[in-house]
Amino acid sequence: MIIAKFGGTSVEDAGAMKNVQKIVAGLRDRQPVVVSSACSGVTNTLIGLARMALVDCAKSLWIVEELRARHQGILNDLFPGEPAACETVGVQIDAMMDELRDLARSISILGELTDRSLDTFASFGEKLSTLILSALFRKEGMEVVLVNAQEVVITSDDFTRAVPLFEEIAPRARRLIGEKASAGYVVVTQGFLGATREGVATTIGRGGSDYSAAILGSVLDAEEIQIWTDVDGMMTSDPSRIPSARLIPEMTFREAAELAYFGAKVLHPSTIIPAVQKNIPVRILNSRRPHVKGTVILGSPKLHTDAPVKSIANKRGITLVTITSTRMLMMHGFLARVFEIFARYERSVDVIATSEVSISLTLDSEDGLDEILGELRKVADVEVERDKAIFCVVGENLRRSKGTLTAIFGALERNDIPVSMISLGASEINVTFVVNGSDAEKTAQLLHSTFFSP
Ligand code: ASP
Ligand code: MG
Repeated sequence: MIIAKFGGTSVEDAGAMKNVQKIVAGLRDRQPVVVSSACSGVTNTLIGLARMALVDCAKSLWIVEELRARHQGILNDLFPGEPAACETVGVQIDAMMDELRDLARSISILGELTDRSLDTFASFGEKLSTLILSALFRKEGMEVVLVNAQEVVITSDDFTRAVPLFEEIAPRARRLIGEKASAGYVVVTQGFLGATREGVATTIGRGGSDYSAAILGSVLDAEEIQIWTDVDGMMTSDPSRIPSARLIPEMTFREAAELAYFGAKVLHPSTIIPAVQKNIPVRILNSRRPHVKGTVILGSPKLHTDAPVKSIANKRGITLVTITSTRMLMMHGFLARVFEIFARYERSVDVIATSEVSISLTLDSEDGLDEILGELRKVADVEVERDKAIFCVVGENLRRSKGTLTAIFGALERNDIPVSMISLGASEINVTFVVNGSDAEKTAQLLHSTFFSP
């Protein structure tokens, strides 16, 4: 059995849904369980209309009509000249839209919108997309079972970020999904949605469909989880900046996690933890270019000789703060004091290097920085440098392979690129360093050609 999760852009319109159908048809002999997001933008629209209901009921009802038109439009595009086939699904869409209108009106009358209500609004997006998708599958001759995720994914009542209760989910998933898939049906279900034990709608956090896929894959012991999206997979560098960037065929969970901070927005590693814990491979694929092999993320590295460097990422607009205190010499508690200040202002610090008398650290925004500096200056000298760039070189074999560090810093030195800070050792799979923002472009090119020369 495999889980095939399709993101919002993969089901955004009739054309995209037809691609999905072809992809799923190609997976028939692997017992596919399809987990779908809402059509792109719909979750935002639903949340927006719920909020609008508080201030302008008429406007929110108008947004419902836009949603109705969009979904009916997709349906008509999928079933041209087949009003009868269209009708049953069309009637269901209309019924859902009428329910949304009622909900919007009640919010407007009550003048109150709770997280619990928000989840009810949000739940419509995935229900609509899966309703249409399963109708398309049927039209193409597939035997489909549309499973309501709210009967399977039982969660806590922490609305908008509900916690899945695995021991409740597992038996339900086996009965309602696993058995159907084994019997040869194509199962379609919603990502992102859950319900409390009492049946109240919940959602598991924005972008949560990947998490849904991982949860179901984990409890069903899937052989693979496929995350179908609109990019080819993880790349050796940002392809918009480095045209020769290549697709990474295989990477480990740890490598993906290191890269996530640098805006490798492909998927959030924390969402696939249930899969990683069970060693289920997670494959990222492009529903617009299904022939591309994508990137597979594995829990533990395979015992093969990979290249030392898997990917090079960078983040610009970084502020580097260097805190020096001679009083720190032989003192305890200084680090704690410094970080307590950052914690109090709820600022996360990214890269850190320390010496006996100083601490260098990076921040990726200057929110609250003035106040923080005011407090820090009471206990130490503080220097602030702006417009820096963090580079992160990632690879499971990085530290085991000889000469990698020399290659990185040798290349920088030969090209007169000064390095402001290096962090090494916190994780054995990455080297992180900071350069001036004005050197970022050159550094990116240089390192890419050093490790991935075409
Ligand atoms: N539709 C939900 C969202 O936009 C979940 C998802 O797409 O993963 O947050
Ligand atoms: Mg999404």
